[in-house]
Amino acid sequence: MSPTNTAPETIAAAPTAPFEYDHLENSVEALRKSIANRLVYAVGKDLRSATKRDWMFALFHAVRDRCMDRWRQSLAAAQDADAKRVYYLSMEFLTGRALTNALLAAGIYDAARTACTQLGADFDALIDMESDAGLGNGGLGRLAACFLDSLATLGLPGMGYGIRYDYGMFAQRIQDGRQVEEPDYWLVSGNPGEFMRPEFSYTVRFGGRLAQDGDQVRWADTDDVIATAYDTGIPGHELTSVTTLRLWTARASGGINLDAFNKGDYMRAVEAKNQSENVSRVLYPDDSTEHGKELRLRQEYFFVSASLQDILRRYLKRHGSFENLADKVAIHLNDTHPALAVPELMRLLVDEHHVDWDTAWGLCQKIFSYTNHTLMSEALETWPVDLMGRLLPRHLRIIYDLNAAFLAEVHDRFPGENDLLRRVSLIDERGQRRVRMAYLSVLASHQVNGVSALHSNLMVETIFADFARIWPERFCNKTNGITPRRWLSQANPSLSALIDSRIGTGWRRHLDQLAQLADLAADPEFNNAFRLAKLQNKKRLAERIARETGVVVSPDSLFDVQVKRMHEYKRQLLNVLHVVTRYQQILAHPNANWVPRTVIFGGKAASAYYMAKLVIKLINDVARTVNNDKRIGDKLKVVFIPNYRVSLAEVIMPAADLSEQISTAGTEASGTGNMKFALNGALTIGTWDGANIEIAENVGLDNIFIFGNRTEQVAALRASGYNPRRYYEHNYDLKTAIDRIAEGAFSPEEPGRFHDITRTLLESDYYLLLADYTDYVATQLKVDELYRQPAEWTRKAILNVAGMGTFSSDRTIGEYAEQIWNIQPLFTTD
Ligand SMILES: *Cc1c(COP(=O)(O)O)cnc(C)c1O
Repeated sequence: MSPTNTAPETIAAAPTAPFEYDHLENSVEALRKSIANRLVYAVGKDLRSATKRDWMFALFHAVRDRCMDRWRQSLAAAQDADAKRVYYLSMEFLTGRALTNALLAAGIYDAARTACTQLGADFDALIDMESDAGLGNGGLGRLAACFLDSLATLGLPGMGYGIRYDYGMFAQRIQDGRQVEEPDYWLVSGNPGEFMRPEFSYTVRFGGRLAQDGDQVRWADTDDVIATAYDTGIPGHELTSVTTLRLWTARASGGINLDAFNKGDYMRAVEAKNQSENVSRVLYPDDSTEHGKELRLRQEYFFVSASLQDILRRYLKRHGSFENLADKVAIHLNDTHPALAVPELMRLLVDEHHVDWDTAWGLCQKIFSYTNHTLMSEALETWPVDLMGRLLPRHLRIIYDLNAAFLAEVHDRFPGENDLLRRVSLIDERGQRRVRMAYLSVLASHQVNGVSALHSNLMVETIFADFARIWPERFCNKTNGITPRRWLSQANPSLSALIDSRIGTGWRRHLDQLAQLADLAADPEFNNAFRLAKLQNKKRLAERIARETGVVVSPDSLFDVQVKRMHEYKRQLLNVLHVVTRYQQILAHPNANWVPRTVIFGGKAASAYYMAKLVIKLINDVARTVNNDKRIGDKLKVVFIPNYRVSLAEVIMPAADLSEQISTAGTEASGTGNMKFALNGALTIGTWDGANIEIAENVGLDNIFIFGNRTEQVAALRASGYNPRRYYEHNYDLKTAIDRIAEGAFSPEEPGRFHDITRTLLESDYYLLLADYTDYVATQLKVDELYRQPAEWTRKAILNVAGMGTFSSDRTIGEYAEQIWNIQPLFTTD
């Protein structure tokens, strides 16, 4: 394998016979033959020796084969039309499992199941063999995955670019109630979905020094790593088109460096090789916090540089100059992690292709767009100038040059506002100098979007207020969405079948059609059938909970669910305070008419996040106490389901009655978990935050439980010197709940175990749990009241499903395509 930075050589096609291959039918018989063929010819096994893994691979190959024609056609169509394409750059793609999704997209799910059964293979067991592609932390990575699904389904030309981590998101085990992290070596038994493309390999350079050659800057004496492409096809619904996800893996750059460095010392040579290959080794498991580690910066540059070299190579195949680059290429930055794409494109154009600086910058400003995902300061990416100068000296120089020109422009437009210059500078000069990646992204982008209406408004009022003054037309909103294929059709077959029977199957591509269900909400027959579907899903989850935690829960109880990353702003702890309060009240009033509840938690904590991990321990200690208290019985059960991930979410979402979306107002940029729940007929209890607001507007305020302080009130509380103790001292139930935790009622073997939690609540309570507690608990009583009226509850649940049409990622991607990327579909169906 030799690295190339130019078009790879293909074998000239001058065939003397037609290029033919078998057309693959979708009948049960054809699939049976295909699976057997793939088992023998691709996996190298037969009936007597095939393991479950072998069968899964054979089935995977059989469906992959059936996506292949459309994949090649999708690429060819974009090439032939010389279409403008979007390149979606993201550090994370949380795609989960691919097999069921592909079977459904290709329309062969039922036939494949029958074929497997006829072959004596247990279809469900095979499906369960596939590991999740956990190449992301949470919402941001899952959004990227839903977006690829929608690009493919809408027939839009584009690709995803990211990193092929050897180790994805860690697997979470719960041991003695605490989180234990285990490495996720998801590639250990091979990945049947990927194709290695060694012909697309690029040199990525680090370190070195700058030298001046006339008016050209030369970047010399670098340490080099090779990035090699692996492609995965993402099939759209009914195979409208197939989108390529290209992930980069790092390979050592071979001979020269190793010889020079190691002078025949083989072991040290191998060590150096390992060092450079570390760049694609592991996903950083931090969600919403930036850690500023050098390896992370290396990862960001590694995938951005390879992707841009690849994009320019593709463009240059058809074009002799860069004149039309911005008409053919849109590059989207999913958060600031790929922001080095900006100086990298400048470097490639100016240094490598000798485009003049102003022309190159003009192109950049037409090509880039950027999505902001958070307003929280601890999540806003900055890199020390020293580190960047050492690792990427050329890029730092470019950033300084861009900054100088930018500040000069601002100075001209806003004379005398010297503090404005300091505030908007790409370099934060306070203390250790740092590069502000968000400002760099805004500077280069023609559109910058937030991910819900509230978040987009707050974005221009807070972190980007100065920039919104400079370029008001640059900022917009694109409310997130989710793919209805995975999150309803695939995850919830029982509800999907019911919906199909009443309004047909078209909602999978046109989710607005769900609005037709509103007329059926009060129809007793539909209402009952809807409740039955929910019950089936609750039984499925109850079995899973029993298997994984040993706790037996009743499918007739209200399933109250909070699953998402563990984070203080998401306020799992507020949920726990309600659980403890409910526990105390059941003990105090055992004969009251309690609605039986099962409170379900799930989510991973960043490995170094002490508070989030302590909350996991608290949940498990409360669960142990409540579940073993004979006086409580079925009135209350608490479970923490370990290892929350996409494939588990597919089982949890359809089974929820109540969706907990209780972040402090102004902190959850959008949320997409909230959408998955409501689409599957859960009612939301939530704050006036992120996309909860738009969900409320679409399903109707009568059909959602909104509580708590709103953004302006949160700001006012903080401004007036928020004092959590005041709430503690004035609310008996709240005081009891906190006191019980503080006394060790749930941790008698170590009474002070949760001292850091109770102390933080009483002394600072930055996320205002205590201020929202009273309304939250009162609202939970309203939830009980409604649940006592099953038909009325179900009516509202149906209205939730009916109102969710707008939250399809097809709607979101349609808006991006039209309003930001300016790309058109190459394939259409009805
Ligand atoms: C949807 C999803 C998320 C995002 O959930 P939020 O509640 O929006 O934070 C995180 N992780 C997984 C596995 C998901 O499927």
